[in-house]
Amino acid sequence: MLADGRVSTGHAGVLLAERRGSYPLIDLCILKTSTQQGEVESGTRRKVKRLLSFQRYCHNSRLLRGLVPHTPGSLHLLDDDYLGQAAHMLSKVGTWNFDIFLFDRLTNGNSLVTLMCHLFNVYGLIHHFQLDMVKLHRFLGMVQDDYHSQNPYHNAVHAADVTQAMYCYLKEPKLAEQLSPADVFLGLMAAAAHDVDHPGVNQPFLIKTRHHLASLYQNTSVLESHHWRSTVGMLRESGLLSHLPPDMSQDMEQQLGSLILATDISRQNEFLLTFREHLDNQDLDLQLASHRHFMLQIALKCADICNPCRVWELSRQWSERVCEEFYRQGDMERKFDLEISPLCNQQADSVPTIQIGFISYIVEPLFEEWHRFTDPSLLSQTMMGHLHKNKARWSLLRYAHNSEPQAHSQAEKPGPEGGGGEGECIP
Ligand SMILES: [Zn+2]
Repeated sequence: MLADGRVSTGHAGVLLAERRGSYPLIDLCILKTSTQQGEVESGTRRKVKRLLSFQRYCHNSRLLRGLVPHTPGSLHLLDDDYLGQAAHMLSKVGTWNFDIFLFDRLTNGNSLVTLMCHLFNVYGLIHHFQLDMVKLHRFLGMVQDDYHSQNPYHNAVHAADVTQAMYCYLKEPKLAEQLSPADVFLGLMAAAAHDVDHPGVNQPFLIKTRHHLASLYQNTSVLESHHWRSTVGMLRESGLLSHLPPDMSQDMEQQLGSLILATDISRQNEFLLTFREHLDNQDLDLQLASHRHFMLQIALKCADICNPCRVWELSRQWSERVCEEFYRQGDMERKFDLEISPLCNQQADSVPTIQIGFISYIVEPLFEEWHRFTDPSLLSQTMMGHLHKNKARWSLLRYAHNSEPQAHSQAEKPGPEGGGGEGECIP
């Protein structure tokens, strides 16, 4: 029923070619368009996207140079105002209450590209690695475009949010002075690309529907492997690192892979135990590249699941979005007569219950160790404060929800697969 009609199109030389490989899933399940028609449409869509991408490039260039066009009486007046506000927001990009939703609106949906260019400038990475600005814009535009804007959660705004959190963590006093330009470059790149081309469904769904990505990656870290290989494809297509010695660019690709694969939440315990052991033994030596890489993995994992550590108003929006994405998967499973995955049943799994389980089993254990690592820092104290308040708030909401006569909930504890039901769903 859900056999992928485009399987044969993407398999040969897939490591470079499959970066838009997750699209057929949605096309076939929901729209049931023919393979040929789907490809024609997607070709046209790509052209339009490229055009928009160029417009975005111009738009961003103005913003990044701090310039605004002056066309008296034109429609640009509103645009100018937005650009000014976005530029103002960028001056506070290192603050924890940064509102990425507002920033995305002010940049006309270009939060990821705009943020990354700004941070590359802040760190002097363009100069350090002698990056070509046109190639950089092309690469970042491709990454941003390959996130699915129709996903409630796994879209380019989530990527921008994770990148902004990663920036905050890279600035932590315990880390900042030890990091090399390459560490910062890889940390930001991994954050920006870590969920690229996410299809909005989890790994078990891809496995049970026999999606070609599941067989390609042998049912292991399917999504994360796809995010990484897609990123490598775009790096090579844009030529961003083509001026570097081959062994250096290859090493960067491998390190990006190791960082992105660390976001597989089914490996949470493995990382948590190692992190805890290092802290107990006090043997982290950030002079060592391997230890810095490990801390980048941990920082990225924290950034990826930091939503419950944000101020309530932002945290709540992320919670609703991720649950909406789960419920959509559940609806699809119901429609196609498949077993409904844990946490994906809107009738049974309420938002407060899902969030309390996620916070208790996934977020708190990791952030408690991060709190120790930072000594704790001011930011870490702020995050733990939000985390506890948000959890208490969800508990109240769950109580209210459960008091409603028709309410049922069964998802407090994460499900069995992948280190937690959310494990496979969340980021
Ligand atoms: Zn993510």
